Amino acid sequence: MSRTELRELVATGCRVLAANGHSDLVWGHLSVRDPDGRGVWLKRAGLGFDEVRADDVHLISWDGDVVEGPEPVHLEHHIHTEVLRARPDVAAVVHSHPESAVALAATGLELEPLGHEGTFFTPPDVPRFTETGDLIRTPELGRSVAAALGDRNALLLVNHGVVVAESSVERAVFGAVILEKACRMQLLAAMAAGAEPLRASAPDEAIAKRARCYSTRQVSLGWDYLVRSVPDVDMVGAQEGP
Ligand SMILES: [Zn+2]
Repeated sequence: MSRTELRELVATGCRVLAANGHSDLVWGHLSVRDPDGRGVWLKRAGLGFDEVRADDVHLISWDGDVVEGPEPVHLEHHIHTEVLRARPDVAAVVHSHPESAVALAATGLELEPLGHEGTFFTPPDVPRFTETGDLIRTPELGRSVAAALGDRNALLLVNHGVVVAESSVERAVFGAVILEKACRMQLLAAMAAGAEPLRASAPDEAIAKRARCYSTRQVSLGWDYLVRSVPDVDMVGAQEGP
């Protein structure tokens, strides 16, 4: 994928996130690893997810300096540089502050596979980052976030937001969209059930569903739909699959 297509894909991902519950004024970001190893392509600071176009995606070095494209850099870019440094299998990272995920993390409830969506992440439960609910504003905190994520595809930053780390922009954005939906479902069910335990898929069923509901083909079809559902979005990347 060319540099132009990569920037276009990040911009498309940002707009899909905006349309699916991840907007938080000008906060939240999406990144993809530079194929030549120079650093990370990241949405620039100062824009809402819905406002991002290809020209707003810049390349930052592993130390967070802008190498190509416009300033300024998000304060929390350390999440992206440190997760991508720690995880060679990860190509793209979403960090955002979606309401249901933040609310669920605040309850201390586990994320259970109540519908299909939860099986993309659990079992076991999505890990939690509790070192601070404040901004991830240093490389040290970025490394702590990467350590809490471990080898998983999602992390709840308690009192803050989410991190979704996947093998492509498409998969990271798709994952972020269904993580928020799974958390919203969990909150609704927990509210309705009160003290009663929730009925969730057993672990073996959840793992089987993960393979069936979220095969490469299914995620690719889901991504294509997400792109089509955003008005005026460029379809670059939609043909590539996750
Ligand atoms: Zn944040």
